[in-house]
Amino acid sequence: MKDKSPPDNTITFLGTGGARVMVATQILASGGLWLSLGGTEILVDPGPGCIVQSTKRKLRADKLSAIILSHRHLDHAGDVNAMVEAMTQGGFKPHGWFFTPADALETEPVIFSYLKDYLDGIEVLQVGKSYTIGNVSFTTPIRHIHPVETYGMLFTAGGHTFAYIADTRYFDGLPRIYASELLIMNVVFLQDNPPADHLTVSDVRRIVTEVKPKVAILTHFGMSMWRAKPWEIAQRLSQETGVRVIAARDGMRFDLSQLG
Ligand SMILES: [Zn+2]
Repeated sequence: MKDKSPPDNTITFLGTGGARVMVATQILASGGLWLSLGGTEILVDPGPGCIVQSTKRKLRADKLSAIILSHRHLDHAGDVNAMVEAMTQGGFKPHGWFFTPADALETEPVIFSYLKDYLDGIEVLQVGKSYTIGNVSFTTPIRHIHPVETYGMLFTAGGHTFAYIADTRYFDGLPRIYASELLIMNVVFLQDNPPADHLTVSDVRRIVTEVKPKVAILTHFGMSMWRAKPWEIAQRLSQETGVRVIAARDGMRFDLSQLG
């Protein structure tokens, strides 16, 4: 008889590229995050190429319970339709939920109408609300500063808490809102005073210093970050803050057991 090992608690980075040039060139992939938490599978921000990146890594879309979208920008939402089709096996196995900001369903919805019938339902994200999917619960504590309606997520699963700080310009109170053991941060820009509403390396330093998580993971790199070698930036941030900071790599799998 085979030993039944306890189910995984892992986060797989299907892509670590962000913003227009990175997505257009695919120097870094743009597939989003795949959460495997105590037997519950959740996909977050399926950007362009998610279907390719997930199948390549033998992640089974038909096992997904939900797809969560932080906001409607293409680098996050490009493969929503492909992944809903894959989750429901083209409608032959209808199930699962799609969590999305309201404005992603309005003019030019990110999801085709016919796919809505394949789902158990669509849940519109709201500030401060909590949601449960299988063994996982999450909240969307605040609306971010970004050109479209955008939310980050604070997850609780397997006795751990972790935050996904999706696209946003830095704002007062941000660190406190996402205080948790593990911070996953979308860091598009290297320099201060960013030309668009995104976090920079200085913002990350400030957030990590204030929250003091057990681990911080940087992802969603724009071209300036990529050229500056994110792993070197992460190393420097680790030295400066005393917190273990990791630059995600395409395909990297982080096991929550590393949080102790
Ligand atoms: Zn965005």
